[in-house]
Amino acid sequence: MMLQVPSEAPLAEPVVRTRLPGPESARLLDRQARRESNARTYPRRLPIAVRRAEGSFVEDLDGNVFIDFLTGAGVLSLGHGHPEVMASVQRQLPLLAHGLDFPTEIKDEFVEFQLSRLPAGMREQTKIHFCGPAGANAVDAALKLCKTATGRAEVVAFQGGFHGSTHSAMSVSGLVSQRARVANTMPGVHFFPYPYALRCPLPGDRETVGRRCLEYLERSLADPLGGVCLPAAVILEMVQGEGGVIPAPTDFVQGVRRLTRDLGIPLIVDEVQTGCGRTGTWFAFEQHGIVPDVVVASKALGGMGMPIAIILYNRDLDVWQPGAHTGTFRGNQLAFAAGVAAGRIIERDGILENVRTLGAHALSELERLVQDYAAAGEARGSGLMLGLELVDPATGAPAGDAGIAVQRAVLERGLIVELGGRQDAVVRLLPPLNVSRGTLDRALAILRDGLAAVAG
Ligand code: PLP
Repeated sequence: MMLQVPSEAPLAEPVVRTRLPGPESARLLDRQARRESNARTYPRRLPIAVRRAEGSFVEDLDGNVFIDFLTGAGVLSLGHGHPEVMASVQRQLPLLAHGLDFPTEIKDEFVEFQLSRLPAGMREQTKIHFCGPAGANAVDAALKLCKTATGRAEVVAFQGGFHGSTHSAMSVSGLVSQRARVANTMPGVHFFPYPYALRCPLPGDRETVGRRCLEYLERSLADPLGGVCLPAAVILEMVQGEGGVIPAPTDFVQGVRRLTRDLGIPLIVDEVQTGCGRTGTWFAFEQHGIVPDVVVASKALGGMGMPIAIILYNRDLDVWQPGAHTGTFRGNQLAFAAGVAAGRIIERDGILENVRTLGAHALSELERLVQDYAAAGEARGSGLMLGLELVDPATGAPAGDAGIAVQRAVLERGLIVELGGRQDAVVRLLPPLNVSRGTLDRALAILRDGLAAVAG
C-alpha cells in the first residue's frame, strides 16, 4: 500500500512573513541550542526550523517560504520530494530496507546504472565498493585502498580542498579551523597549491595558473631533497566546492593525470559534490578527458537525500582483503531505489542539458554582478555549482563579513544559500539540477537585491 501524503498548498513562491527567526522557529532553535552539540553548523547562520519542502522550496515553521539553493549541501539533485523518486522508495520499502552487502535486485540495478554512467573503456576496468553512508567514509576507503595497493604511506592533497570531517578525511582537507584543535591527524599528508587564479600563491597570470601549480607539484615529487616520498595517492577535486567553487583548469587536471600515471601514483578524484550531474556531465572529470584510478561519490547518489557512498576504482587496485573496509550501513536499499530512479529521470528528462544551459545563464548573471559591484570580486562555477566571491574593494582581500551579511540579506528576502571559501567570502549556489528558469531568475534577482543592500 502506498503511503498517503496529506495534500497541502504547493510551495511555488518565496514569501517571508516574519522577522527571522520567526517565533516557532525560534522555539525549536532555542531547544536545539540547549540540547545539541556545539559543533552544529547550518542553523547558526540560517536560523530556521524546517517544516516541509517541495521541489526548489522549503517552508519553515512560521510559514515563511524560501527558494532552497543549499539543497541539503548539494544532495537533492531533483529538489525535495520528487514524486517519481518517492514512489520508487515506497515500492522498495515493503520489500527490503537494509541489506548489509548482500546482493539484491535493486542493488544490482544501482551498480549497473553507476557503471553505465562511466566513459566506455573505464567501465570494464572498474569495480565498485559500498562504504559507510557518507562522503568522508568513502574518502577514507579510497585512501586505504590506495595505501594497501601501493604499500606506501604518504598522500598528496591540495590547499583549499575539502574531503570530509572524519579523522582521515579531515587530514587531507585544508580547513585549518577544523584541524587545529585535533592532535595527531593522519601523518604524511603534503598540501600543494591548487590553481585558484584569484589568489594563487605562485605568482603569474590567470592563463598560466594551472601550469604553474602542476610544475611546482612535478618538481617537488622529482626533487630528491623535496621532502615528499612517492605517495600512495593524489586526491583532487575537479571543482573545489567548500573551498569556494574553484574549477580546476583542464591543463592542470590533465597534467596531474599524466604525472601520476608516469610515477605510478593512483589518482583519487573526489566527486562527492561534483558528481551525479552537478557540473553538467555525470562526473566532472569527463570534461577533462581523463580516467582517474579512483572516483569517490556520495551526496546526490541517493536521489532524494538517502545516504549512500561509493568508490569506483580500477580493478588493478583491488588487492585489499575481505573485510578491509566494512560498515553496517552499506546496504541501504531505499537509497539504491531512489538513486536508480533519480538517475533515470536525469537521463530521460535531459536534465544535464538543463544544468549546462541554466548554469551558463546563471554564471553570466553573476558576472554582471561583478561588473556592477566593486564588492563582487569574481564569479565562478561549473554547471549548477556556482559561486560569487566577495572582496574588500580597497584591498581585494576575501570579505567574509560581506559574505555573511549577503547570506542573511538574501535569507530575509526568501533565498537560502551556502557560504564557502577563505573567510566564508564566497556565496555559493547549489540549485536543484531540474530548477526552472523562472525560479533561478527569481533567486538571482534576490541575490542582486541582497548584494545591493549590503554593498550598494
Ligand atoms: N568530499 C567533498 C568534495 C565534499 O564536498 C564533502 C562534503 O561536503 C565530502 C567529501 C564529505 O562528505 P560527507 O559530509 O557526506 O562526509
